[in-house]
Amino acid sequence: MSGNEQKYINEAFETNWIAPLGPNVDAFEREIALYIGASEAVAVSSGTAAIHLALSLLEVVKGDKVFCSTLTFIASANPIIYQGAEPIFIDSEPETWNMSPEALENAFEDAITDGDLPKAVIVVNLYGQSAKMDEITSICNHYGVPIIEDAAESLGSVYKGKASGTFGKFGVFSFNGNKIITTSGGGMLVSDDREALQKARFLATQARDAAPHYQHSQIGFNYRLSNILAGIGRAQLGVLEDRITARRAIFQRYFEDLSSLPGFTFMPELTDTFSNRWLTALTINEKEAGISVKEILRSLSEENIEARPVWKPLHLQPVFEKKKYYPHNTQESVSETLFNNGLCLPSGSNMTEKDIDTVIHYIKKAVIYRKERVDMFSVK
Ligand SMILES: *Cc1c(COP(=O)(O)O)cnc(C)c1O
Repeated sequence: MSGNEQKYINEAFETNWIAPLGPNVDAFEREIALYIGASEAVAVSSGTAAIHLALSLLEVVKGDKVFCSTLTFIASANPIIYQGAEPIFIDSEPETWNMSPEALENAFEDAITDGDLPKAVIVVNLYGQSAKMDEITSICNHYGVPIIEDAAESLGSVYKGKASGTFGKFGVFSFNGNKIITTSGGGMLVSDDREALQKARFLATQARDAAPHYQHSQIGFNYRLSNILAGIGRAQLGVLEDRITARRAIFQRYFEDLSSLPGFTFMPELTDTFSNRWLTALTINEKEAGISVKEILRSLSEENIEARPVWKPLHLQPVFEKKKYYPHNTQESVSETLFNNGLCLPSGSNMTEKDIDTVIHYIKKAVIYRKERVDMFSVK
């Protein structure tokens, strides 16, 4: 928290706006829309809820197909299942770690052959890095299929001068506790289609018809954000730029100290894009580095330092075992390579220089120790 949140919470209490609507909700929506340059925004209870609403608005129903990035958190795809639709997973490409336009094109060509185009394409911006939106948009426009941009991890990132989250028919943000700014739990659905967002508000408040009695001609959801949490969001938005500066500095610090180690390759930042560097992520080539990601994770964990592998691709998840998947090309499944070799380092905005130095120290120690052991046991 930044310290300013209490002011907005107090306001909510003093005015007794303790509801999933109120002045903080309205203001938070306006401020997010203004910040990213979208026409309008709807504050909801989570990023997952925002994706679910987007799919509902695009009338994704039972039996429909939806294309979705495979290298992501499961929340990107779960709402496809909520709608009874069928996810088809699309691989990453190496320059952004995000959706491969080549794999996407292949998936579309098959869909055309089968006469079964998807109803939507969910594109994720992993760890703050924007996907190749020009290429992806051009493919989706060609086939006339709308994009839902899952920008849950990329608030504040920019792609060719335009804010992340504003490329699709709908954009989605998350304010879950682990995101770059948080309301403890919350999300935002954004769009330039005001009519669609009006419908989103209706669906998110149990689809209540305009009548004095409670009348419903459609099934809705209870998905609105509380006025208290929206107050937290407003204060958080005020420090978003500081958070991005902090995260980028953390990335830079790791990069300067670790990128020269053999086999260590940091997540790229595509030309003309600006990543919020939500998490510092890198890959470790075990052969060159002499140590595996697993071993580094273990060494850090022994020092009570929490690091994580990269997201496990959704097409490898037991729950999605039988779902279709399109790799980057016939030789290469990029998401699987990233999963096998990828590592996310501690990246919290409040990390001190000393914290970062400690992480770097134990990574270097693990590498050197491992190398010495290998040298000791190898027959000369
Ligand atoms: C966090 C996250 C979500 C879900 O957001 P919640 O607010 O936790 O529901 C969706 N997609 C991605 C890529 C995320 O990282």
